[in-house]
Amino acid sequence: MWGRAETLSEARQQLVLANRILVRLGLLDSMGHVSVRDPEDPSAYLLSWSKAPRWVREDDVLVFDLDGRDRTGSGKPPYMERALHGEVYRARPDVHAVVHTHMPSVLPFGLTGRPVKAVVHSAAMFWEGVPLYDDYFDPEHEGVYIISQEQARRMAACLGSRRAVLLRGHGCVVVGSTLPELVVSTYSLDQNCRVQWLAEAVAPAKPLREEEARAMLRVRLGEIGIRRAWENWVQELQEAGWLP
Ligand SMILES: [Zn+2]
Repeated sequence: MWGRAETLSEARQQLVLANRILVRLGLLDSMGHVSVRDPEDPSAYLLSWSKAPRWVREDDVLVFDLDGRDRTGSGKPPYMERALHGEVYRARPDVHAVVHTHMPSVLPFGLTGRPVKAVVHSAAMFWEGVPLYDDYFDPEHEGVYIISQEQARRMAACLGSRRAVLLRGHGCVVVGSTLPELVVSTYSLDQNCRVQWLAEAVAPAKPLREEEARAMLRVRLGEIGIRRAWENWVQELQEAGWLP
């Protein structure tokens, strides 16, 4: 599959690019994080230590097992909410990339309970809807965070077979089969949520029909579409002096 890293070293390089592209597109703030499944061991994933994504370099990338333990023994502080990555990889063998972001465009939907609908052609990958996770109770951790493995398991169950889940009052988690596909999906979810919200200030927005969405998906998630977007974004990083 195009865009799927085959070695640990390729995955590390691609993860650095994905971090910087997501920040540059305004989709990832200093507290969000993105990971990729270890291409050499499906029971592990690659994720930076607790560093702002804009500045992640290859030597910041650690390898975690699905319970969130740092296999590299680096001693560096990990992201507090890394459990969500491991539990999504455990529940979804088809998923090879995960991002947790706080992008504001998704928040009104989680707050009001208004469902996200795929209304824009480029967001056809969300035609089955985006569930809302609102089950934060955790006796050991107050607040609307996903910290424990148990809570992350509940969140992964809420995600089910879909491509994203909203976290009420917090943000969202988006999943993909490769890092380039994940970035395209996150970008598309953001665009779709902005457009849907604007449209629904006037009247209920008409979602894509299933047949329309499936036809669009073949284009949107095909190699040509993903590759063109990813290569464009990498080039933009280079021209902006954002490559490490
Ligand atoms: Zn968060």
